Amino acid sequence: MNPSKRFKNENSNKDSDDDIIIIESTKAPVIHEYCQHIDNITGESCKEYYAIVCIHCNLYLCYIHVEIHRVLLINERDKLVNELNERIEEINQLIENPDRIQQLLIEQMENRKKTKVSFIHQLSLEKLINISKIINDLKQLFEPIRIVLQKTRCVSSIQIKKIQESFLKFDENKKILINNIVDSITIKQHHSVNLFQLSNLDRPCRQYELPVHHSVHNEMAASEDVLVINDREHVLLFNLTNCFDDTLIPELIEWKNCVDGKIIDIQYSLYLKLFFILTDEKLFSLNRLSSLVCLYRFASLPWSCTIVLNSIYILYKYSTIIEQWTFQQTSAIQLVKQWKLNEILTESEHDRHLKCIRSNPSQSQLAILIEDDECRWRIALFDHDMNYLQQTNMLPNASTIDWSLIFSFISDQQLIVMDTTTETIYLITINESTSTINYQQYSNSDYPANACRITNNDCSQLILKMVKPNMLKFFQI
Ligand SMILES: [Zn+2]
Ligand SMILES: [Zn+2]
Repeated sequence: MNPSKRFKNENSNKDSDDDIIIIESTKAPVIHEYCQHIDNITGESCKEYYAIVCIHCNLYLCYIHVEIHRVLLINERDKLVNELNERIEEINQLIENPDRIQQLLIEQMENRKKTKVSFIHQLSLEKLINISKIINDLKQLFEPIRIVLQKTRCVSSIQIKKIQESFLKFDENKKILINNIVDSITIKQHHSVNLFQLSNLDRPCRQYELPVHHSVHNEMAASEDVLVINDREHVLLFNLTNCFDDTLIPELIEWKNCVDGKIIDIQYSLYLKLFFILTDEKLFSLNRLSSLVCLYRFASLPWSCTIVLNSIYILYKYSTIIEQWTFQQTSAIQLVKQWKLNEILTESEHDRHLKCIRSNPSQSQLAILIEDDECRWRIALFDHDMNYLQQTNMLPNASTIDWSLIFSFISDQQLIVMDTTTETIYLITINESTSTINYQQYSNSDYPANACRITNNDCSQLILKMVKPNMLKFFQI
């Protein structure tokens, strides 16, 4: 089922070779009486009488030399057929393996930028290119060659030259085509502002099963190329650089719950280039070399944290207090400010718990998941000085039994809230002063238990941690 058929490479057997027609000379000789063949080595002319005009070189030749020239011509043509088949093979390889088209585009982008294209950028390519159009364009590249070959059933040196020219043209056109695609990707990468839809959850661009089955722990965060996930006795470190394999093999960092506390939140700071691991007792920083530093030991039970520049915002269990700490380069944190929710939010006398705090991707806003005394949940938005901006309506049917709600920003405009008790996903879209809530229940199917963004040079993906089966799904955002 090759889209482009190989051209037959006929052997030079005299009987089977009917492509080459030798034209007998009809005109009487004017000047040339003898065969015009000149020996390459001795430089001597042939002493035979000429018989016919050679279609290879248009010289008057004897029967012996016209046969020799015919073989030369066949060899040249065979060489061209081989060259053509190589090109067809190359294109067929691309057409049959769209992954190779992507690989080719990535190589081109890397050559242009003189830097490696990150995993996240590679993933985003799938959204930006139209593979079937590229395949069609690649097939079209052969048309000029096909036309030339169809016209030249009878081979002559002029026609061979034409075929060679069409090959050069083919190589040139292929280069132009690839360049144009790379150009269009670069333009499109800066113009993707589509809102995320709940239906997008059915179409991950990548998914990986995790080596640990039935993990009930879902705390996670991602840097530009490393994904960190809590797995109770271990912290799993996934290196996402060039990971096009079907499985992700994590590096394991042993975690002693009895010494360091139970992990309840993991966040990454793009600004500090550090992961922060919050347990029910302590706060740790974790850098890329896997070195773990304890920054603080809390007196009360911390519950959630987020990082804005060098500030760390912390929420506590059974409390409506929000604290801002600063990260010191001396590997410690210091309390800067403390707010009570009822001081920053009017009509908040019925609010009981603050479950989860997150900062938006551009680090200009903080969002907090709030539960009131009727066990209803909503999200409120603040600036980094905790000035109130806006809040959502109550999340319909959100869990009232336990506190298994968590959320993540998808973009500055959108949030995803996951309730693992009711197995419901809420997608919140923030407009200037209002917000809309879309939601869907994912019972009896795999549902996400946590989400985080991964960003590398303006390019982002949403990663969802699924349970039953325990897996990761990547989505274009
Ligand atoms: Zn000749
Ligand atoms: Zn001769």
